[in-house]
Amino acid sequence: MASPDRAAELREALVAIKDQVNQAASGRAATLLAVSKFKPASDIRVLYDNDHRDFGENYVDQLVEKAKELPSDIRWHFIGAIQSKWKDLARIPNIYAIQTVTSVKAATKLNEFLPAERTTPLNVLLQVNTSGEDVKAGLAPLASTEEAPASTLAQLAVHIVTKCPRLRLQGIMTIGSLTESLRADGLNADFETLKQTGAVLELVIRAQGKCADGSFEGGHGDTQVHPWGQDGRLLLSMGMSNDYVTALKAGSDIVRVGTAIFGERHKKGES
Ligand SMILES: *Cc1c(COP(=O)(O)O)cnc(C)c1O
Repeated sequence: MASPDRAAELREALVAIKDQVNQAASGRAATLLAVSKFKPASDIRVLYDNDHRDFGENYVDQLVEKAKELPSDIRWHFIGAIQSKWKDLARIPNIYAIQTVTSVKAATKLNEFLPAERTTPLNVLLQVNTSGEDVKAGLAPLASTEEAPASTLAQLAVHIVTKCPRLRLQGIMTIGSLTESLRADGLNADFETLKQTGAVLELVIRAQGKCADGSFEGGHGDTQVHPWGQDGRLLLSMGMSNDYVTALKAGSDIVRVGTAIFGERHKKGES
């Protein structure tokens, strides 16, 4: 259990961030992911008791442990490197989304390892390296449909909507560069790149003809699954503690906020 002081601190932070998110989203529906990596289950429990349900984790092993300990109506969003732990992820009963898919192999394995008893599709987002930095994971962005035939990102999107019936391509995700994130003018070129990539990718998927508006048209055998998007469009996951307000103003649907809610993190083994 968290101490009363810790519980009060977390509650206040959550309320403050939720206010900011709602203001910046100005009427649009936006999801606030509380990024709880390296934070104890007791912290998550406090937010849960304050009606928060969406949590992001970066490490498969930490996520598996926390999912076992915490209530089953939490929506877990995985936002870290999958390595080869597709099966561990797919077997978490309440895994809601994987935001870091970057290969046909990962998509195929996740689709294959979802337990038979699971009735809802697993949401996947494709990670895009909008800043082009070597240290960042993700596939190259798309500036126009002319680039699509040679684009790994486009091929992966098509693979998921046509060949992975148990997955739903919910959207795309990016981190972006720190330089863009710290700009004083409230703009961010990496977020614009993600937005543009999403628009192009929607055209590419619609051109498949099977599911032009994201609704079911038989592309997935007999599973009644919407193969991609939400309300006929791909969601954008962008914005972290430093830049979630900018991201929401730029059209983000999902912001991933850790430090601003939970405070500074201690690395593995330190805390
Ligand atoms: C850790 C992490 C976050 C949260 O970062 P903060 O700066 O603590 O808000 C968001 N997204 C990803 C992919 C992360 O790894």
